[in-house]
Amino acid sequence: MRYSQTFIPTVKEVPAEAEIISHQLMIRAGLIRKLASGTYIYLPAGQRILLKVIGIVREEMNRTGAQECTVPVVQPMELWQKTGRDADYGETLGKFRDRHGRMNVLSPTAEEGFTYLVSQEVQSYKQLPLNLYQINTKYRDEFRPRFGVLRSREFIMKDAYSFHANEACLHKTYMDMYNAYKRVFSRCGLEYVIVEAETGEMGGTGSHQFTIPCENGEDVIVYTEDGTRAWNIEKAPVDPLPKQPAVEVPPPALVHTPGVGSIEAVCEFLKIQPQQLIKTLIYKADEEVFAVLVRGDHEVNAEKVNQFFIGRHIELADEQTIQKVTGAAVGFAGPVGLSERVSRMLVDYAVAAMAVGITGANQTDYHLKNVVPGRDFPLEGDNVQVCDVRNAVPGDTCGGKKLLFKHGIEVGQVFKLGTKYSVKLEANFLDEEGIRKPCLMGCYGIGINRIIAAAIELFHDEWGIIWPMSIAPWQVIVTPAAPDADVMEAAETVYRQLLEKGVEVLLDDRDLRAGVKFKDADLLGIPIRVTVGKTSLAEGKTEVKLRSETNKQQVPVSQTAGHVAEMVQQMLEQLNRI
Ligand code: ATP
Ligand code: MG
Repeated sequence: MRYSQTFIPTVKEVPAEAEIISHQLMIRAGLIRKLASGTYIYLPAGQRILLKVIGIVREEMNRTGAQECTVPVVQPMELWQKTGRDADYGETLGKFRDRHGRMNVLSPTAEEGFTYLVSQEVQSYKQLPLNLYQINTKYRDEFRPRFGVLRSREFIMKDAYSFHANEACLHKTYMDMYNAYKRVFSRCGLEYVIVEAETGEMGGTGSHQFTIPCENGEDVIVYTEDGTRAWNIEKAPVDPLPKQPAVEVPPPALVHTPGVGSIEAVCEFLKIQPQQLIKTLIYKADEEVFAVLVRGDHEVNAEKVNQFFIGRHIELADEQTIQKVTGAAVGFAGPVGLSERVSRMLVDYAVAAMAVGITGANQTDYHLKNVVPGRDFPLEGDNVQVCDVRNAVPGDTCGGKKLLFKHGIEVGQVFKLGTKYSVKLEANFLDEEGIRKPCLMGCYGIGINRIIAAAIELFHDEWGIIWPMSIAPWQVIVTPAAPDADVMEAAETVYRQLLEKGVEVLLDDRDLRAGVKFKDADLLGIPIRVTVGKTSLAEGKTEVKLRSETNKQQVPVSQTAGHVAEMVQQMLEQLNRI
């Protein structure tokens, strides 16, 4: 392709709207433009990268035997009501009413669509297993779209769904997909970490996320010091803390804390540390009201709480419910006397380990001091459970091993779903004995756009992007560095020869200074640059330079195309080896 005929609007200035480097460079390199908050236009160079990533993902999916389909992005709301996911997604779910008054959903993922298909088409175990996938647009009305295509509202996902007659078969496909994901990310040149993730109703190790460790990642990866296990923070288990030595304290006493409800405000008002406080949160699981207690300096882990209410929709209780249950305004809930007023009380290990704490008094504008867990509120009983319901923090251990933390970008996830969707949508089959059973399912997602942003986060320098060969918009750029006819002619020849060898090459035939051309090539991140300059051409040579290195190699003009094509091949093969 000739640069003069492309539409690659590069930008010198760092765009003010872009907080992180991948977002900045995608705009500056002319890959994307914003259409509206969280939605982006892919320009031609960006589209080439998108197609490269899609190509790799498609090849690896097909290699596992998965078969490609396309399910509509616009789907009937009834399906989403049947699975209860209209409520689970809440405001994140995009929806609209059509001219016939029917509600539609803009697919944020497609379990419903694929399970519906199987419910209509599969009758017998003989038709299983099935592994179906699509590469299609997804829409999520994200609360906070940010970081460009890393968290956008509209994006492209590869989503696969597998259907099985038994657990062994599900496990086999799960592992096939797990291994295919390893190949996908390796081929894209990404260094990744596989972490155990929350599994919903399956329990065990039924879900893994593929994450790219990097500073700007929104996910927190927790791993043991010896590197033997890693989790998403949603899942990372923590050991119970040692019980603090008992202290003699008088019975709980009311402290007047007028209008002081938040942890920070209470700490400031009473001149105490957050870890001396016990936070009481009131939740609802459908209509059931329950309480969760964590230490003031800890965060409730919603996924861990979810494990106690599998299949139910959980959310923080509204103001009215809190007032009804605690008898106090929001901010003054406490555990004393609470277990009789809620269906269940989940007490975090760290709270149970406290010798004494300060809590809300279930009375507006009052807290209680001298509250002793086990003495002033129960740590056991029919509806009280001491358990792990908080996020791990530095200092925690798991199985005695110190936990360490780093940020990461989730680029893919594999998941054993069990029968959650097949039961609700009646995707059943008859087994060998003629017994009707719901299919066991797996689902497997990859964020295509996120791969692109993650690659830029990993591979860039002060001049721009440095693409891995496999996902570069062009593999080679040929840059004539002077307007002279012989320079242009040599560049044209090398360009044509590269095209003939099947190399994806861009010829920078623009009438611009060499410095400007080099800047654009570096910004765009094309892995190999061939420069045809006046001085080297006088010696019959071109200059070949890798984007990732500073040194240049002089190659005879006649051998340039062959040499460069070989380099491209080698770089691709290196990525293919995993
Ligand atoms: P997150 O926790 O980051 O919101 P998720 O776990 O909800 O993502 P999945 O439902 O597992 O996402 O979707 C599969 C993949 O789709 C993710 O691994 C991610 O790569 C991609 N993805 C999800 N949400 C977005 C988004 N808003 N923008 C871009 N890619 C996304
Ligand atoms: Mg996920």
